Amino acid sequence: MAFRKYTIMKRSLYFLVSFLFAYTTFGQGYEEKIKSIYDHQLSESPVYENLRYLCKEIGNRLSGSPQAAAAVEYTKQLMESYGFDTVYLQPVMVPHWVRGDKEVVRVTNTKKYGTISLNSLALGNSVGTGPKGLLLNVIEVENIAALKKLGKKVEGKIVFINTKMDPTLINNFEAYGGAVITRAYGASEAGNLGAKAVIVRSVTNRLDDTPHTGSLVYKPLMPQIPAVAVSTKDAEKLSEMIRDQDDLKIYLRTTSQMLSDVLSYNVIGEIKGSTNPEEIIVVGGHLDSWDVGEGAHDDGGGCMMSVEVGRTFLALGIKPKRTLRVVMFMNEENGLRGGKKYAEIAKKKGEITIAALESDSGSFFPEGYTMMGTEAQRNKIKSWKPLFLKYGMYDFDQLGSGADISPLEDQGPLLMELLPNTQKYFIYHHTAADILEAVDKRELEMGAAALTSMVYLIDQEGI
Ligand SMILES: [Zn+2]
Repeated sequence: MAFRKYTIMKRSLYFLVSFLFAYTTFGQGYEEKIKSIYDHQLSESPVYENLRYLCKEIGNRLSGSPQAAAAVEYTKQLMESYGFDTVYLQPVMVPHWVRGDKEVVRVTNTKKYGTISLNSLALGNSVGTGPKGLLLNVIEVENIAALKKLGKKVEGKIVFINTKMDPTLINNFEAYGGAVITRAYGASEAGNLGAKAVIVRSVTNRLDDTPHTGSLVYKPLMPQIPAVAVSTKDAEKLSEMIRDQDDLKIYLRTTSQMLSDVLSYNVIGEIKGSTNPEEIIVVGGHLDSWDVGEGAHDDGGGCMMSVEVGRTFLALGIKPKRTLRVVMFMNEENGLRGGKKYAEIAKKKGEITIAALESDSGSFFPEGYTMMGTEAQRNKIKSWKPLFLKYGMYDFDQLGSGADISPLEDQGPLLMELLPNTQKYFIYHHTAADILEAVDKRELEMGAAALTSMVYLIDQEGI
């Protein structure tokens, strides 16, 4: 039968390809080396203890905060203690936003519930309402397009933009990308139409009482109005109340404000290449976090996994051919100043970055990598997939990279981001629930091993 013949042919071809692969790659001991990296991570890695220290002894660390400064010092000392060749701080000015008092979002005149408070968090970079707060009518729209259609009807009101993440998208980051536009630009667009404040639905699929913060971006020349996120359960409730009652009023009070920029740092640890030191491989995460929770998944885990790449090379006596640079980027969450500064300095110095890897999608079980680069670069990485399959890494097909490494794009490196399972990330993302206990030790170690193994192959083979 044709089908059977095709299957046999396909199978023979598969064995031939596997054999050639084994001959060219496994033959060089890569399979054994990667096994030794995984064995090391899964049996004697300090990565979880290092994350514990960052989360519990330092805590959340928004740019400009004393905890962010402490995290800079901690990761510098950590890399020094492991014997990196050089560890240094790269100065960068960062925004300094402060949340102020606990937010108040209170519906004051509901027929059904009387006065009712909603679980809320001010959005990062938002201005406050002032100490007296605002008491205004509220109007609901589904998204920014619907808001623009309403036009001046929102004038003088609080606008509630109730954008849901699309639950049918399997890749949660895609769903996040669709919904996060509201959080980022809702305030500017509503302010532009004369609204006085904005309430957005938290960007998560889960229906619960936990509000999610995150950055908003004020567009130039548009009025800056206060913005908060409410939990998804409260978003549902608010929507129901607005449906029942068109004279609904909300009292909103936030005292957040943007202070002057503060001097902070990217933390850089380097291991010099033995044969091609001018070629640099970057691996990193962002050291800052939101000012709620502990920044465990976002992105303490990514930082500690990245430190592990350098530490594991040193512990296993792997001498990199190329220069390995571990970078703790500052200010990804509300400005990306660290990522931009790193790329700016690299360009000024004429550095040759051949690849940059980031981990900033949570510390869940790693399933592959997203990539941005030439087809030849991506195919080369994909040809190593057989080495990763037995560790559960199968997905090397998606395009994408990380925020902090993205400013390096015009300097030509292959950009990659570790791709963990995405299903649970948005339960914790930017919330008080993003704490150490939300990270599984073994999954974190698997991530560190995956990152170290990939950096090892790129170092050996070039890209
Ligand atoms: Zn992040």
